Amino acid sequence: MAIHILPDEVASQIAAGEVVERPASVVKELFENALDAGAGQIDIHIEQSGKRLIEISDDGAGIPAEELSLAVMRHATSKMRSADDLFAIQTLGFRGEALASVASVSRFSLTSRPASQAVGAVLKVDGGKGAKMEPVGAPVGTVVRVEDLFYNVPARLKFLKQDATERNAINALVTRYAIAYPSTRVRLTHDSQLVLQTSGKGDRREVLANLYGVELAKNMLEVTFQEDGMCLSGFISPVAVTRSNRKEITFFVNGRWVQDAALSRALLNGYQNLIMVGRYPLAMLFLDVPPEEVDVNVHPAKAEVRFRSSDKVFGTVQRAVRRGLLAYSPVPNLSIGG
Ligand code: ADP
Ligand code: MG
Repeated sequence: MAIHILPDEVASQIAAGEVVERPASVVKELFENALDAGAGQIDIHIEQSGKRLIEISDDGAGIPAEELSLAVMRHATSKMRSADDLFAIQTLGFRGEALASVASVSRFSLTSRPASQAVGAVLKVDGGKGAKMEPVGAPVGTVVRVEDLFYNVPARLKFLKQDATERNAINALVTRYAIAYPSTRVRLTHDSQLVLQTSGKGDRREVLANLYGVELAKNMLEVTFQEDGMCLSGFISPVAVTRSNRKEITFFVNGRWVQDAALSRALLNGYQNLIMVGRYPLAMLFLDVPPEEVDVNVHPAKAEVRFRSSDKVFGTVQRAVRRGLLAYSPVPNLSIGG
């Protein structure tokens, strides 16, 4: 075959493989877009574990009708201009890949209205093809509907896990984001059953009860620690409450959920000698560092980050956790690890 450039729709499907692995990754991207749009309320409606339908509505800034078709093109973003911006990212999105990816592997519609427009517009795309736009009455904000995810990518469809597994992944994701953003009202329904509803009052511990139950949420220890321009806050379990795996260890870095083995290790170091080997604490921690200290452009789904001075970050996390634990149950002979 001679060298040729792939049609955009094929390129999008390939890219989609990295960004959208499963229904929960679609939810993550759309939820982050709503947060970036300044939403005060985000409603998520799921049917058949996201395989049939994922619908996310927000009351954020909306997209002007004339930009709607751009929003679903690859590398189309309102969040950055030049490569320099990569080191000062203030938004959750910046790659301009999500909507294009999702639209290429589903029956997709994007309805939006900014406050400056009297009516909204809806853009429909079918498997990345045949984009059609028309005016429509709509409240200010955005509604994204993703139907029949992966209907045109049978290989991907086959790899999806059982309904319960996909459903749990969505619930875990939305619950954690709801805790991270307690000032946003979040509502999640699954096949018209209410799964999660938060008040938007800004109280993290209140939302925490949705993840851990009321009793445990009450007992979680609050951590706030500042050092070298970094801030670590959130909740850790008292030493008496542990699990047999690391699944309940969650870190947000600058507002995004990241999976980072080294951050978990720093947390575990903080607990050293206080819990048994092979047992793990529960943690819901928010690390904020100056944007130039962290590279978020490491992973297509932005699930991993790289720190400029990782030793410093890990030291801070470990000390914050240690101090947090000692503050609640002083143990005289324990030194504060550095
Ligand atoms: P990114 O978030 O990386 O910019 P996306 O493909 O997720 O890329 O979105 C493309 C653009 O569409 C965004 O930059 C933003 O301008 C617009 N957009 C997407 N979702 C929303 C939303 N819920 N509300 C307002 N604008 C949105
Ligand atoms: Mg985005």
